[in-house]
Amino acid sequence: MAAVLCFRNVTLRFIQNRNTNLVFSVKTKLAPSLARHFSTSYFEPASRENFQYDLIVIGGGSGGLAAAKEASNLGAKVCVLDYVTPSPRGSKWGLGGTCVNVGCIPKKLMHQAALLGEAIEDAKSYGWVFPQAENIAHNWETLKEAVQGHIKSVNWVTRVELRDKKVEYINGLGSFLDANTVHAVVKGTERKLTGKYILIAVGGRPRYPNIPGALEYGITSDDIFSLTKPPGKTLVVGAGYIGLECAGFLNGLGYKATVMVRSILLRGFDQQMAQIIEAEMRHKGVNFLHRCIPKKVDKLPDGKLNVTWQNEQKQEFNDVFDTVLFAIGRRALTQDLHLEKAGVRTAADGEKIDAVDEQSNVPNVYAVGDVLYKRPELTPVAIHAGRLLARRLFADSKQCMDYDNVATTVFSPLEYGCVGLSEEVAIERFGADNVEVYHGYYKPTEFFIPQKNYANCYLKVVAKREDSQKVLGLHFIGPSAGEVIQGFAAAIKLNLTVKDLMETVGIHPTIAEEFTRINITKRSGKDPNPASCCS
Ligand code: FAD
Ligand code: NAP
Repeated sequence: MAAVLCFRNVTLRFIQNRNTNLVFSVKTKLAPSLARHFSTSYFEPASRENFQYDLIVIGGGSGGLAAAKEASNLGAKVCVLDYVTPSPRGSKWGLGGTCVNVGCIPKKLMHQAALLGEAIEDAKSYGWVFPQAENIAHNWETLKEAVQGHIKSVNWVTRVELRDKKVEYINGLGSFLDANTVHAVVKGTERKLTGKYILIAVGGRPRYPNIPGALEYGITSDDIFSLTKPPGKTLVVGAGYIGLECAGFLNGLGYKATVMVRSILLRGFDQQMAQIIEAEMRHKGVNFLHRCIPKKVDKLPDGKLNVTWQNEQKQEFNDVFDTVLFAIGRRALTQDLHLEKAGVRTAADGEKIDAVDEQSNVPNVYAVGDVLYKRPELTPVAIHAGRLLARRLFADSKQCMDYDNVATTVFSPLEYGCVGLSEEVAIERFGADNVEVYHGYYKPTEFFIPQKNYANCYLKVVAKREDSQKVLGLHFIGPSAGEVIQGFAAAIKLNLTVKDLMETVGIHPTIAEEFTRINITKRSGKDPNPASCCS
């Protein structure tokens, strides 16, 4: 139920949402500063039921902040608690969560730094002359400072944004006292906060293996982007997104990088694409140790790290590294929350929260982002789910998050972008006879002059075999794969078919147009290599 009252400069909208909470929103033609004062001073949501807040968000990262800002826009009284426990190496950071501080953003900047190194080499073939420097070198300190400077500016903008949106920011560690009460420790003092709804958006932190020396001498993605000295020769343990991306940019910056793989690369991704990524990383100089696990890390008198590892046959090996980076997955930060006091149950893994439409087993307690069980651990997923949840709680929305067909990219650094099903999952789900896979290698025009390796530039379209061949998955390895895949992800949401792709006129000469040129099926056995040298 909604009622709208219009005055000369102000529109008030009262909404009774599905949780019987009466909320309002204000649309105004008044100056923003005056409007803010007007909206908070004279109008309080009618049924706050003696809670201090309509929404308490525990965790000020991608998901928590998105939900908090949206809820506040819709007239709710909101506070966000955010607290970062320093890493075992002592790294700590400001407001904004993993993505901004120790995730997507610094990673993408370091990925870009690595790509620029390649571009300098390419530039020479295109006629650029660098007379001052025979050997162009990279300076880690400069990069680290630039990246950290950018992060600090984002931290600051985030704080200002919260203030402008009237979201109260509390720099404190939160835990439950009961389903409506949160205990916050703020600089040694304690606060008790009550809220009608509580949103758990605490994200996760890197795991360490339980081996001698790991915690003492190893680092994780929490530390790499603020490392005060150059990483040097680095062992990366783990072959998921983080392991491959870190190894990729370190190698691109000129540091020797080795990836230790326990089983397969990129579990959950299309395995043919994962193998091509490995081939490309090897070509660029990254070393891989397959079917190995670390056993211990010892510090040598010169400060270097002697790592002992074991293969499947239990044979032991060792080598000396300057840095050991563990990228073996992340644990949800639910241990400190005292979930039991609110009656919130964790999922089968004992850490994450198994929610239905982000609602936990306790009706007024919700969760978004990385803390959710079996949901993609990606920033846009956390943000979208957070916003939609706020609209369901504080407006009359019914829209729920769709976790299917979420596009993603591994910045490795030749990128792998994909959306939808892998070839394996499509075959498992529909049967090999009912799945058609189109594929092809291609040569980016700009690779010709510097004679860059194009052997691993590959794409495939996984589709249903019947009728117009509905597309189930798109996979693309090449430069800027993330940019290529994003638009096609929208097309998949609109039920893209192979026929649609074939009827789309490409943009020439681009690499994205390769999706409009697909015509070879795997089933045909035809050679998927491009026919001509340069078109
Ligand atoms: P977070 O962003 O982790 O925020 C949770 C916040 O809550 C943190 O600030 C935490 O300190 C705080 N907190 C925890 N417990 C409490 C408590 N009890 N009280 C108060 N505060 C608390 N995703 C992409 O989409 N693209 C990428 O390219 C990408 N790259 C990544 C690279 C790396 C190296 C990593 C580690 C992650 C990357 N991700 C990427 C994943 C992305 O960062 C996460 O999916 C996203 O940040 C999750 O958001 P969230 O809101 O769930 O949690
Ligand atoms: P991950 O994808 O779960 O990969 C963990 C890797 O570590 C796997 O290769 C795993 O091997 C290995 N491993 C696990 N335990 C190990 C152990 N004890 N010893 C040795 N190896 C071990 O985790 P992640 O790379 O840390 O990334 C976490 C999440 O962050 C991802 O799920 C992703 O959603 C998000 N992220 C996204 C991006 C992006 O969007 N570009 C980038 C980075 C991170 P097995 O396969 O054998 O288990």
